[in-house]
Amino acid sequence: NTFAEIDLGDALNRNIQRCKYVKPTPVQRHAIPISLAGRDLMACAQTGSGKTAAFCFPIISGIMNGQPPQRPPRGSHTACPLALILSPTRELSSQIHEEAKKFSYQTGVRAVVAYGGAPIHQQLRELERGVDILVATPGRLVDLLERARVSLQMIRYLALDEADRMLDMGFEPQIRKIVEQMDMPPPGVRQTMLFSATFPKEIQRLASDFLAKYIFLAV
Ligand code: AMP
Repeated sequence: NTFAEIDLGDALNRNIQRCKYVKPTPVQRHAIPISLAGRDLMACAQTGSGKTAAFCFPIISGIMNGQPPQRPPRGSHTACPLALILSPTRELSSQIHEEAKKFSYQTGVRAVVAYGGAPIHQQLRELERGVDILVATPGRLVDLLERARVSLQMIRYLALDEADRMLDMGFEPQIRKIVEQMDMPPPGVRQTMLFSATFPKEIQRLASDFLAKYIFLAV
């Protein structure tokens, strides 16, 4: 019932203390060990449940403990993130990015955000400086993929946040296009986490299309 028991490593534990998180919320207590064990996850969780940390902690831990990321060659204009967090809105994306930066402080893991409705140039500059975790809205990410400024070939972790809201906003074609790019050869070993407040048919279909032998969690 403490973060120390979940074994996220010293750097993350220090950042958890800096954030003044004393104990894991229910979704964190269940989702983090499932993800650390390498399993795909479908979680029904509401805003305010602490789901951001529930998907960020295993991603940061996995990147820190994995093989050193292959950086694109110097001067390359294509960013190759290891983790992708998709969220429906600019506001939610920037909130997730702010949290991801706090959680990854002094870990060497770098998070960058890209959302629509804002000039792309600043986002391109941030991407060029290197990115491990990309937080993005679906429309802007499709734009970046079409410009070949992002490649998803290296993605090892995919988190879809507020998936029901993304579908309500009509993002399903973009989401499918994005996930298809991750399935292009060479096949990466992708671990996927799908978070949604509700679990209607459309979300069940996404889960069966995107997740492999997943664990279902309702908190
Ligand atoms: P979220 O559901 O991810 O939007 O988180 C809701 C709020 O709870 C955010 O302000 C988090 O910083 C905070 N929070 C998340 N996990 C914890 C925790 N274990 N202890 C205390 N606060 C937390």
